[in-house]
Formats: sequence, C-alpha cells, structure tokens
Amino acid sequence: MDFYKIFELLMKQMNSMREMDFDALYPYVSRICEFLRVAKITSTRYANPRLEALNRGDVLIAYDSGKPCVEAINKRMITEMMSIVSCRVYIEAGAEPWTDEEVGRINLLVDTTAVYVSRSRVQQAAERYAFFDDDGYHNLRFYIKNLQKMGQSGKLNGKAALNFNLKHFSLVNQQIGRQGGSFVMFRFFKGIEELLGDKGLVCRMGGDNFVAVCSKEMLPPLLDYLSGRAIVYDEVSGDRIMVSASVGVYEIPENFRFNDSGDILDKIIAAVTVAKTSGKSDVVYFSKEMGERKERMSRMQRLFPDALRNEEFQVFYQPKIDIVTGELIGAEALCRWFHDDKLISPNDFIPLLEQGIDICRLDFYMLDHVCRDIRRWLDEGRKVVRVSVNLSRKHMLDVDLLEHILEIVDRNNVPHSLIEMELTETTTDVEFKDLKRVVSGLQRAGISTSVDDFGMGYSSLNLIKEVPWNVLKIDKSFLPVEDDDESSTRSVMFRYVVAMAKELGLECIAEGVETPQQVKVLMDNHCDLAQGYFFDKPLPMREFEKRLDVHHYEMSAETNS
Ligand code: C2E
Ligand code: CA
Ligand code: CA
Repeated sequence: MDFYKIFELLMKQMNSMREMDFDALYPYVSRICEFLRVAKITSTRYANPRLEALNRGDVLIAYDSGKPCVEAINKRMITEMMSIVSCRVYIEAGAEPWTDEEVGRINLLVDTTAVYVSRSRVQQAAERYAFFDDDGYHNLRFYIKNLQKMGQSGKLNGKAALNFNLKHFSLVNQQIGRQGGSFVMFRFFKGIEELLGDKGLVCRMGGDNFVAVCSKEMLPPLLDYLSGRAIVYDEVSGDRIMVSASVGVYEIPENFRFNDSGDILDKIIAAVTVAKTSGKSDVVYFSKEMGERKERMSRMQRLFPDALRNEEFQVFYQPKIDIVTGELIGAEALCRWFHDDKLISPNDFIPLLEQGIDICRLDFYMLDHVCRDIRRWLDEGRKVVRVSVNLSRKHMLDVDLLEHILEIVDRNNVPHSLIEMELTETTTDVEFKDLKRVVSGLQRAGISTSVDDFGMGYSSLNLIKEVPWNVLKIDKSFLPVEDDDESSTRSVMFRYVVAMAKELGLECIAEGVETPQQVKVLMDNHCDLAQGYFFDKPLPMREFEKRLDVHHYEMSAETNS
C-alpha cells in the first residue's frame, strides 16, 4: 500500500471522530511511521509560553517502535486555543538519513496531526461551556449526554435516576435574600457532588429543579442528604438554613433496555410530580401504575378532541330538593362520557383532564349544553329551576373567564339567575386572589356561585368570609352516618357548619344524602336543602324533564316525624 493511501485512511478516521482518541488513530499512525522509517513521535502540549519555558506540559507519545533512536525533527506550533504544541520526530539510531521526499511526508503527517489536536481541543473547550449553565452548574445537556453514554454501554442498569425540587426555596430567598439563596443552593449542590464523587452526577435543569444519577449504594446516602441539610450562609455568624427536596426516583432495572434518555426523564419527572403534589411523601419511586396512568392520560388526550366534537359527553342532572316543602329547587349538571357504547364515570376522566387544560373546554361545553336545555325548557313553557355547573380550578388562570362564561350564557339567551357555578376550595394565596376576582365578577353579573365539597379540602374560614358566595355545599363526608350520635364529632361539626353558613347569609345544601336518617339530621339542624341518592341519582336529560314537570317530592312520614 502506498503512503497516500494510508494517509487518506488516517484523515478519514480523524474526520469521523468527535473526540480526541489516539487509540483509534494508532493503527494508521504506526503504519505510516513504519513506512517512513520513523522510530518515535512525541508531542508535548504547553498551556502557555511560560509553562513551555518551564518545560511543564502534557506529553503524548503518538508512536514508539521501542528501538534506540535520535531526535531528527522538532516542530513548534501555536494552536487556535493559544497553547503550544511541540512535536518531536525520531529516526532509528544509525539509519540512513531521510530523503527530501520522506521529510516532506513526515512534515505533512506532523502538521495534520497538530491541526487535529488543536481542533479537538477547541471542540472540547466549546463543549465544556455548553455543559454548564450561567451559574456554573452542570446543565441538562450534560445529564442527557451522560445518560446516553451510560445507556448505550449498559452502564445505567442497576443505577438510580432522580429528579428533585428544593422545597419552599422561595421562602429561603425571602428570608436571606436572592444572593444568599443562590449561595445556599450552590453549596447544597456542591455537597451532593462531593457525596457522590465518581459514583454519580448531579445537574441543574433550571431554577430549583435538579436531576441526578448514581450507583445503587449511593442512593440511601443521597436520599438522606436530600431529606434535609443545614447549610451555612454566613461564615462569620455561622447562621444556617435548612434545605430539603421533594424527590422522584427511578430504580433502573438490571435488564433495562435503553432507547432514549427521554424515557428516563419522563419517569423521574412523573415520580417527582407525585412527590410534590400528593403531600404524602417527599420521596416517590416510579412505579408501573404511574406508567399506566401516563398511558391512560395520553390515550385520553388523543380521544378527547374527537369525543368533544362527536358530542360523546352528555349532561346528567341531579335534582336539589327543599326538604321542608318537598319542592324541586335546582339541579347540578354532571358529566357522563359515552364512548364505544360504554359509560365512563367522571372519576375516571375528570382527574386526568384536570392535569391539562382540556378540562376547561369540557366545562364550557357542559355550560353551553345546560344553557341550550334551559332555553328549550323555557320555550316549552316548563317550570325551570336554577342549574349549577362545575368549574374546575384550572380556569383560575384564565383572565377572560368571566367573559367566556357570560358569552355562553348570553349567546343562549338564558337569564343569569338560572345559572350557578360550583367552585372548589383553594389552598394558596395566589389562587385565593383569583378566586375572589372570579366570584365577585359572577356575583356582579347576577350568576350565583357555590363553594363545592366544603370540608373536603383545606377549609379556610377566610375563603368563606371574604369571597361573596351564595351557596355552601357541605360535602358528604360531613354528614353524620348511622352510628353517629348527637355528640359525635361529625354531628357537632355538621351543626356548626350549618349555623355558620346561615350566620354568613349563605344558602346551605348537603350533598350525598342517602338515607331517611340523614334527611332527619338535616331537618333537625335546619339545613333545608339536599341533594343525594335518597331523592335521585344524576338523571339523563329526558328523565330529569319528568321531575321538572312534577316539580315535587313526596316526603315520607318517617323523615317528617
Ligand atoms: P361533585 O361535584 O362533588 O359531584 C357530586 C358527586 O357525588 C357526583 O358524582 C354525584 O353522582 C355523587 N353523588 C350524588 N349524590 C350522592 C349520594 O347520595 N351518595 C354518593 N355516594 N354519591 C352521590 P359524579 O357524577 O360521579 O361526579 C364526580 C365528580 O366529578 C364531581 O364531584 C365533580 O368533581 C366531577 N365532575 C363531574 N362533572 C363535571 C364537570 O362537568 N366539570 C367538572 N369540572 N367536574 C365534573
Ligand atoms: Ca359539584
Ligand atoms: Ca361536591
């Protein structure tokens, strides 16, 4: 084989490699060296001229035949990164000197390799910048690159991947200032790097959101660290602040087949989301059920637009009754999904829709259909009652919510007094403000509002006092059951909630009334309005129209006694 043929192969190999890898080049370099009677090539890289003067550089032996030799060529080059490469070429001791042609070829080899070395150094430097964020943390790109590298070589198997979010970090910022907060976060992060050493790595996704991967034995100490560490933020006073995290973990199985780093990220993000929202545990492991939930979720998202277009959702009406007079006084609109001739209960799709914003489209669809029904009932001369429609909390982000609601009601030419919106309780201050804005707006427009599921969530008396509600819907979990006597907690609570609602001038309705005993409890406590299976389940529209026409429920002697 001639020199240029081998040289071409060497160039090809160089161009195909993204990273400097002299082992891969060695077969070609050694062939060329044998061909040109080169006994040894070394190249020394000095970071700057000062270190060159001190002869402090990294020596790389590109080729060594092992034979005794003498230095014949010494080339010095300045690379694009402003470092210095000195390349020495040795000839076998006692050999014929090189011909001019040979010297020309050796120079070509040396120059080409130098260009390659400096180019890959530029690339390494560029990558070094690309793998850190502006605050000096390893970034997500670095994490993904490492997952890929480990995944492709099977080294992820048996390891643990984590996604964690610092808890209440905005409070830390509030307490010690943003700069102090940044300092604490970096220290907390460095602590993890130190803990993991070469047994794992940790990167920042952004904000207070981090990802990590580590060996199995490092998982317990890492989780212990994340459960809470006091970080010193003032060296002088020694003042410390507690930092902890919500964590999602995926224990990568031994037989794991790596496709894409996205698979792993999806899993740890799903797990940390549960950790952050369930409020049960700060550490959540990814499970098969979570995968299935995700599966159901994406199926739902696929089916939803067509289901809405094809009117697969139907409004069912559950009557509300005045138990003193037996009169039908209202109804709640509840959604039913008929898909492939099967009825799907709201509990199986509403929570999934609530993870995205599809729930908002469904609520508007429900309101629109309710308004159409009411308009028709009015036109048919029926005695119409007020109908309540559920409004998911997701709507609170919609600044034009009020306009949307009024547009639907007015388009259908329905009197505002016949519509009520049911909203559930809220937990945070931000939402509280939005809730107050929405409820006040509805109030001004003459649309009633009710606090749904009162007592289920985080019940704040402020929420009741400061927002102009019309109705309080007491959740069924507050209703005394069979064995509860008058002094049981449930009975006492129920009594006080009804009294409080009346005191605040709110209508009060009990949900989930199932038995005559419960009707009696309502009567005894002057809670006059009820909704529940005892009277009716949610009914298909035609069925409900019959109730509208009768408009009255027979109260049995048993409950009246
Ligand atoms: P919710 O708003 O609290 O509705 C009351 C639920 O209690 C309804 O369940 C109703 O069928 C059920 N229920 C009524 N009376 C009784 C009773 O006596 N005993 C018992 N055990 N249950 C009773 P449903 O229709 O399955 O709806 C479940 C939840 O789904 C609703 O709870 C509501 O949060 C949600 N939902 C239903 N339709 C819609 C909708 O159009 N939009 C939104 N955002 N949520 C909806
Ligand atoms: Ca409701
Ligand atoms: Ca409810």
